[in-house]
Amino acid sequence: MNQKTPYSLEQAVKLRKKSREEIEKEQLFLFKRHLRQAVCVPFYKELFESEGIDVNALKELQNISLIPFTTRLDIDQHPQQFGLGDQKKIRDIAITSGTTGEPVIVPYTAGDLHRLAFNEAVAFYGAGVETGDSVLLTVTLDRCFIAGLAYYSGVTFLGASAIRSGPGQPARQWHIIEKLNPRVIVGVPTFLKELGEWGDKKGINVADCSIETIITIGEPARKPNYSPTALGKCIEEVWGAKMFSSYGATEFETAFCECRESAGGHAHPELMLVEIIDDYGRVLPDGTPGEVVVTPLGVEGFPLVRFRTGDIARLDSSPCRCGWNTKRLGPIEGRLAQRLKYRGTTLYPESIFHALHDILHVRGAYVEVRSTVNGTDDITVVVGCDDLAVDVQKIEESLHAHLRVRPTVELKKSEDVLAKMTRENGRKPVKFFDLRKKGSNDMFR
Ligand SMILES: [Zn+2]
Repeated sequence: MNQKTPYSLEQAVKLRKKSREEIEKEQLFLFKRHLRQAVCVPFYKELFESEGIDVNALKELQNISLIPFTTRLDIDQHPQQFGLGDQKKIRDIAITSGTTGEPVIVPYTAGDLHRLAFNEAVAFYGAGVETGDSVLLTVTLDRCFIAGLAYYSGVTFLGASAIRSGPGQPARQWHIIEKLNPRVIVGVPTFLKELGEWGDKKGINVADCSIETIITIGEPARKPNYSPTALGKCIEEVWGAKMFSSYGATEFETAFCECRESAGGHAHPELMLVEIIDDYGRVLPDGTPGEVVVTPLGVEGFPLVRFRTGDIARLDSSPCRCGWNTKRLGPIEGRLAQRLKYRGTTLYPESIFHALHDILHVRGAYVEVRSTVNGTDDITVVVGCDDLAVDVQKIEESLHAHLRVRPTVELKKSEDVLAKMTRENGRKPVKFFDLRKKGSNDMFR
């Protein structure tokens, strides 16, 4: 690896085809360089001093376990201790949507923006996007969000052309598709489903339109066994196109995206180290679900080390059929803070929503959870329907068949359910209301 990491696509492909040992050797060099950068922010300077961490003494990647984790709580409680203080080096500022706490301010240097473009370009390349392709971006590019900018810069880095259409406005989106014939579309699964169905209703032959590749963000579209969720299946069917699911977060500035094999999102070896941990911080073996911990490599403006994402997934380190030997992260199975303990079973609200997708008449749903006296969770699934005469028992039975537990189902008018789920300025609908007594699940936050 070149000392300066030039981020070329050619080099990226070469690295991914090397043996695991060779990849890890290069990662160790990049990891140590990243730690030297991390001490430029007060949080890590203090942490490394207090923990007696000597970067030069780290001899193998596994030594990463000597360094304590960084949590969202650390960032929320000490926001001024993260991020590069030198304003002259900052070129862009992203602000997270604050879904899981205070919005986080993430400064980007020129190098970070270049890194971000490379990150997305390799992700697109892995999913089969090529130079000369036209890519319709139905994601937000402004409002201090980073995903849209990442996609835009990745598309141009790759030598493809971006159509910055933004979200919403189905009539306009279809006008663009018919006029410019993009081969690739990028967006949030729920929106892409609605857009396809909107076209269908208007008599457009959606399955025969120019779109061949769909890249989804923000919501899971696959199950842990890599098969599409009901939503993912619906998107592939309505568009008659192949879907690739991606995952990323503003804080760690790196994305995982599926390759042509659709067998988990490849981790970029020159841009991140990824671990899966249990509730006690122990690193878990491949195939075991746990919390995703990311150390983004090469970040200057907002370096993080062992950042606990709060998301649950599993890793696969076996070589991929696509020929790349990098680790793959399975679909996100839920949020750690939303983990439910119900009659001896652990489940996440996401699996309830996946099950509801298969049930007719359901328009919108959210989960409410309360603490019971014996310390378990009491779950109510509030389901929106246009017809309130729908048989609730049948919905409960259907959930039972999917989940092997039977949470209480409450029926409400769909407009009331959708209104409760809509949050002003929110990008994503709110689907989970945690009414548990404070402290009952603090260890998971
Ligand atoms: Zn692959």
